[in-house]
Amino acid sequence: MTARIIDGKAIASKLRARVADEVARVKRDHGLMPGLAVVLVGNDPASEIYVRSKHTQTQAAGMASFEHRLPADVAQADLLALIGKLNRDANVHGILVQLPLPKSIHTETIINAVDPAKDVDGLHPNNAGRLASGFAALSPCTPLGCIILTRSVHASLEGMNAIVIGRSNLVGRPLLQLLLNENATVTIAHSRSRDLPKLTARADLVYAAVGKPELVRGSWIKPGATVIDVGMNRLPAADGKTRPVGDVAFIEALDVAGAITPVPGGVGQMTVACLLVNTLRAACAIAGLPKPAV
Ligand code: NAP
Repeated sequence: MTARIIDGKAIASKLRARVADEVARVKRDHGLMPGLAVVLVGNDPASEIYVRSKHTQTQAAGMASFEHRLPADVAQADLLALIGKLNRDANVHGILVQLPLPKSIHTETIINAVDPAKDVDGLHPNNAGRLASGFAALSPCTPLGCIILTRSVHASLEGMNAIVIGRSNLVGRPLLQLLLNENATVTIAHSRSRDLPKLTARADLVYAAVGKPELVRGSWIKPGATVIDVGMNRLPAADGKTRPVGDVAFIEALDVAGAITPVPGGVGQMTVACLLVNTLRAACAIAGLPKPAV
């Protein structure tokens, strides 16, 4: 068997186009201009790239994009003051503080300071708690993207056995909740789980969110399973540079899986697209409008 490649780039592009259509509609019909504020502390090169991509894609969707850059040695009180200002700013409907933050800043305090109604990263405990309780919530973008990619293969996930490998607040835990909302039967694994190959072999849906290059081997995967690879790692390449690899041994998995996301070109493409979805949803909720059609 050769697995179908799930084209995250194409799916993300369609999603961004749908967001842009809905943004145009709420502007036309309600005079609402959704706005996203991104806060970058320091100059971590990877974070710089993400922030630039978020800015470009937000503007391309027709939304307002506000960028705030603070030095790496900014005082926590000054960062909190900026978040307070953004919480009160009627033009800002989504606030994203780019992680990781410098060690001098207490990340949890910053996450908790963002107005939950503008928490487009879905990390505030109010949103995490609502999601875990099965209530409507702003959900983290990467897990949302994983569900959309899975739904591009399966119209319904009801009754399917899923394994989520990784239990971070950013990916694994919210993904578990979103899969439960889809009526999947979910196993969540982590660094202390026993016999990961055996757990994985039972799964119709495999989500790898670990950060360990090619941890999940082809021999672990149930024939025909759908594999969503969240991992973004780099390994040395033949030309002396590095190449991107996921948490799944892609070439091995290709022979066994029914469908699989590539790295790059899979989940990574969906994360920013889902950030736009969350910003649009937050703007409509704050303005008292019905949930948009994305
Ligand atoms: P994280 O916070 O470091 O969490 C990693 C998780 O993997 C932890 O729960 C850890 O278990 C578990 N783990 C570590 N070693 C394991 C092993 N040998 N077997 C089973 N589980 C193991 O990472 P993250 O933020 O969730 O990110 C995971 C990966 O996704 C990274 O490669 C990251 O770059 C990527 N990522 C991609 C996107 C995207 O847009 N594509 C977005 C976010 C993250 P414990 O809890 O027991 O320590």
